[in-house]
Amino acid sequence: MSVYLDYNSSYPIDSRVLECMIDIYENVIGNADSRTHNFGKNARIVVENSRKQVASILKINSDEVFFTSGATESNNIAFQGLKDYANQTNKKHIITTSIEHKSILETTKRLQKDGFDVDLVSPDLSGRISAEDVLSRIKNDTLLVSVMHVNNETGIIQPIKEIGEAINDLDVLFHIDATQSFGKLVKELQETKYDMLSMSAHKLGGPQGIGALILKKKRYKLPPIKPIMYGGQQEHGIRPGTLPVALIAGLGEACKIAETEYKSNMKKCQAIKERLYKILEESGLNYAYNGNQKYAMFSTLNVCFEGVSSEALMLSSKEFCGISNGSACNSKSYNPSYVLDAMGISSSQIENSIRISWGHEVSIDDIERSFQQLLETAKKLVW
Ligand code: PMP
Repeated sequence: MSVYLDYNSSYPIDSRVLECMIDIYENVIGNADSRTHNFGKNARIVVENSRKQVASILKINSDEVFFTSGATESNNIAFQGLKDYANQTNKKHIITTSIEHKSILETTKRLQKDGFDVDLVSPDLSGRISAEDVLSRIKNDTLLVSVMHVNNETGIIQPIKEIGEAINDLDVLFHIDATQSFGKLVKELQETKYDMLSMSAHKLGGPQGIGALILKKKRYKLPPIKPIMYGGQQEHGIRPGTLPVALIAGLGEACKIAETEYKSNMKKCQAIKERLYKILEESGLNYAYNGNQKYAMFSTLNVCFEGVSSEALMLSSKEFCGISNGSACNSKSYNPSYVLDAMGISSSQIENSIRISWGHEVSIDDIERSFQQLLETAKKLVW
């Protein structure tokens, strides 16, 4: 049996979420925006219930939740949707980091062509960016600061709370890509001040193809986001298109489950991580963690095995585990990780680095067995 250890790419769907979605697919037909019959009304009830479930885990109001197809779309709307406002106010300076997901980095490249001035902050070897570094770059024409909460490759947690606190009283918008932390670092997100937040259901046991952009109101006003697609008035016109009711129900259910279970999930994941550290220590391999583990998420390990090509290791371990060496969005062909590169890690160390990520439902025995097998395989590949 092969053990799936690539949860940061996509988390397997929770069986309760699936059950809830099947029930909706079978029993709630109709378009949530149809006004002329009860089928539409019933679909709308499901959608609004899910909106409340998303809002509840963040402790925000449900009219601040806008459904999208996932974090890529949420990130695009958060950035591109500000274009009109930027032109009106002549505020075109954006601060973000060089370790963001491509849905942010590629969007900023496009915005640069439209005259935006983009500052990219890089982390040090710890994998963490400095809040001071971010804040020191704020200027009179700064429109937006955007920082991911947890990096998808290293699992390093970024100082969003400090940044949010400092920006809150300024005339600058703060966006968080919380794709990897949503439903996991629940308390941290509840306590952080931000204007916009992106999330995706398939990173917390929900279905692929649904997510949300959170737009927090300040003095009763939403951030000045305009739609980037045109169509109907769904989601207040911010994201037109027929609402996928069952997917939305799945997202809501995943949030409901995470809100009650995240603490015990966190403990189980941490126990797995402690076990992996121990196995590594006893392995006799030369290894180094990428990113300071003090700041690392309890469910991700990015590690370099000296002299072991990650491509060879992944190929040789395919039969018994599924791991990765970077983001799935860049893995059509081998590209050295831009995240590890931005941290100042050498190209040879990057080539020898793999990422393992897991969730609470992975059995500790399964993960232990496949990790031992992985290390035995690595030993054979050392050159
Ligand atoms: N941001 C981060 C940090 C991610 O890890 C991902 C998914 N790998 C995304 C954005 C994009 O999410 P989605 O798959 O929902 O488009």
